[in-house]
Amino acid sequence: MAKSKAVPVFDGHNDTLLHLAIKSPGSEESFFSGRDGHIDLPKARAGGLAGGFFAMFAPTPGWTKEIRWRKTGPEGPQESAGWDVPLAAPVHQQKAINNVLAMMGALFRLERMSEGKLEVVRTVKELRSAMDRGVLAAVAHMEGAEALTKDLNGLEVLYQAGLRSLGIVWSRPNFFGHGVPFNFPDSPDIGPGLTDAGKDLVRACNEMGILVDLSHLNEKGFWDVASLSKAPLVATHSGAHALCPSPRNLTDDQLKAIGESGGMVGVNFGRGFLRKDGMADKRTTVREIARHVVHIVEKIGVDHVGLGSDFDGTQVPQDMKDVAGLPKLLDALQELGVKGKDLRKVAYRNWIRVLKATWKK
Ligand SMILES: [Zn+2]
Repeated sequence: MAKSKAVPVFDGHNDTLLHLAIKSPGSEESFFSGRDGHIDLPKARAGGLAGGFFAMFAPTPGWTKEIRWRKTGPEGPQESAGWDVPLAAPVHQQKAINNVLAMMGALFRLERMSEGKLEVVRTVKELRSAMDRGVLAAVAHMEGAEALTKDLNGLEVLYQAGLRSLGIVWSRPNFFGHGVPFNFPDSPDIGPGLTDAGKDLVRACNEMGILVDLSHLNEKGFWDVASLSKAPLVATHSGAHALCPSPRNLTDDQLKAIGESGGMVGVNFGRGFLRKDGMADKRTTVREIARHVVHIVEKIGVDHVGLGSDFDGTQVPQDMKDVAGLPKLLDALQELGVKGKDLRKVAYRNWIRVLKATWKK
């Protein structure tokens, strides 16, 4: 048995609802009986997953398999000098609304079907209580604000339903801002900042206590949020640009701003966002994830980093395999010196602190 088994993990991002509601609609039962993906309840329990952000995301139409593999690079080991990926097309509002309803519906269905084993949490009190009782704690997150319009009526409704975290964009433009493409290598400084509507969205999220997620946002948008937001800055599933120069990762200057705000980064497990060469190489191990954590610790301190797996939305290192492999990552972190109280901060405590400061309850 791995020695880190007893440390629970709270995770910044998964795409499990996309599979249960959109790719295999009506497959919620497989979450309990076991499914061929990264997260189901038996595997979550085996890996010590205590809870996490469950994303609601509208896929880009025409985002083909051929383009998709390029977003995390070839699997190697062939040589590559880099690649450009066309920016994903915008998604229509009605399609985004349908997707959010399907995925949020699936999340609440999971909660009901679980008979107390999974709870959608809306406050830190509820989150702590679920973790104490061994109940999987789910935070409802929307990845891309395409379902919303300028009046933000939808945000009011989604908040009342349980939405507590919002990524302004996925890697495509929308009414509120601009996302980064999956080029490699490249800077995140691509395109203009937030629109006026995007700035109003940040203010509304602050007022309501909804976390504003910086992952997928381009750099000018990032600095707009940094200057506007009164909440800690958070990127739920990104890595360190200094170690892997993908525009999806954060530069050391961005990390500094996150640290100074009291915020944090959830490190992404995607193989294509970890390595210096950007390849989704099959030989990539959990040690690469741990190296990103250590880099962020060195730059901004151990209070400002956690995990943001991207389970069910990316290719993770083969020795991780799925959520049941989380203890292997905790072991790798300990080997690199992140242990004891620091390991617990990275595994779940930082997330709880930042959610408390953001939600204000
Ligand atoms: Zn994402």
